[in-house]
Amino acid sequence: MQIFKSLIGNENIKNTLGSAIINSEFLHAYIIEGPRGSGRHTIARLASAAIMCKDKNSLPCGICNTCHKILNDNCADVRFFDAFKVDDIRKIKETLYESTTECEYKVYVFNDCEKMNVASQNALLLVLEEPPKNVIFFLICNDSSALLETIRSRAQILRTMPLENDVIFDYVKNNSRVQIDEKRLKEIIISSRGSLGYTLDMLDESKADSLFKERERARVFTENILNNDTECARLISSMFQTSRDKLKELFSMSLNVLRDLAIVKKSRNASLCFYTSQNDALATSSRHSIKKIITAVEAIENALYDLNVNASVPCALTNIMTQIKKGS
Ligand SMILES: [Zn+2]
Repeated sequence: MQIFKSLIGNENIKNTLGSAIINSEFLHAYIIEGPRGSGRHTIARLASAAIMCKDKNSLPCGICNTCHKILNDNCADVRFFDAFKVDDIRKIKETLYESTTECEYKVYVFNDCEKMNVASQNALLLVLEEPPKNVIFFLICNDSSALLETIRSRAQILRTMPLENDVIFDYVKNNSRVQIDEKRLKEIIISSRGSLGYTLDMLDESKADSLFKERERARVFTENILNNDTECARLISSMFQTSRDKLKELFSMSLNVLRDLAIVKKSRNASLCFYTSQNDALATSSRHSIKKIITAVEAIENALYDLNVNASVPCALTNIMTQIKKGS
């Protein structure tokens, strides 16, 4: 019996949730945690279809009427909710005992559960307590630690795993109709942190263009601060004067650049988190000492801290340049 054949990676979930479904031992509530784009909703859909599909060889078969409806969000018995208000959750609770429309089970998928406040989570807890036997819940969240322990203890926690870059690359090459240059695709994938959903979303040309601009800006900014180029600090300061969050993103990306520059000094084959080419990282790294790279990391981490406690943008950038100059 094949389970979740179309799910890429996530063997841990195939093994736990998949085996439970094959053996008809699935629980009434699962928390699926992981970053956006990591397949959390796909897993909820596949599991719902697998529970309801009657195929004997592959669950879900993906082609029967039930599978087709569930996998296309067109089944009245598998519903998705963005219910963060107590009243919404109470209304949902009233529907628990309504009979199913077309399937054996009713599935309630709650999106973005980490956004629920304590009152809403307590209301949700009442929903999870002793539901009818034919009801299954999937609670989707980034991080289950944002949920009350009383909710966590009533559900099995499943964590989506980041995919290997090669796996995402092969998937896009074999399944996407979008024509994209391999170098650009690799840049998107390395920015995705193992997220297939993010990668597919970024195949949109306008989104990809802004990502490439941000990456290029982070690369140039990092190289300029390593070269003690104070003009660059002034330029960045004027660009981000009114956009502190964007500046924080630039700093975070710059930390990834610096991490790669440091790590290639240790090992030429280390896996990188910014550069798509080992040679590019090595070429830049060879122009700077490890001491200088580490000083830059510390300076940017301090600047991120400063911005979080409301330091001005010019002040944060001046501090970076001063620390790097002092440290070199
Ligand atoms: Zn089916």
